[in-house]
Amino acid sequence: MQTLRHAPDGCPALVLNADFRPLSYFPLSLWSWQDTLKAVFLDRVDVIAEYDTAVNSPTVTMRLPSVVALKTYVNHSRKPAFTRFNVFLRDVFTCQYCGTQDRDNLTFDHLIPRSRGGKTTWQNIVTACSPCNLKKGNKLPRDARMEPFQPPYQPNMFELNEKGRAFPPNYLHHTWHDYLYWDAELEE
Ligand SMILES: [Zn+2]
Repeated sequence: MQTLRHAPDGCPALVLNADFRPLSYFPLSLWSWQDTLKAVFLDRVDVIAEYDTAVNSPTVTMRLPSVVALKTYVNHSRKPAFTRFNVFLRDVFTCQYCGTQDRDNLTFDHLIPRSRGGKTTWQNIVTACSPCNLKKGNKLPRDARMEPFQPPYQPNMFELNEKGRAFPPNYLHHTWHDYLYWDAELEE
């Protein structure tokens, strides 16, 4: 951990709404590290991830948050964003075929393969580990004899928020990328 007496500029935090969707996309919602620490001390946000960089005050040394989520939902959208992160969260970062929680090995599977007309939607995407994804290939679940633990569905924001809070900071991810959008070009 790098500890600095004065934190440099350039450590902004990505600000997520309580549903883990960025507060805004254009421009992307970012707060300065000063504003972010203020919100942390006022207990308005949960810290989701942190930088390696820390700041000192007379009494504490604290890592700078890199991603924070509002504790109170700001209502300007109805549904959770369809993002990689939110799909992982819905499925609690668990392969829906074998149950592994090896995060470094998790990807996504189209329940009905795209080659058979399956869409990239909440109802057709499940979290899967790479071996299961490979094993299932372009087969339908019944042909592959691989049924997901639960059929994929669109979660609500409350559910995602509750699941997200169950993980400690920095457990879930290392980058902001997963929050930003679903990459429709994602290869199976
Ligand atoms: Zn698996």
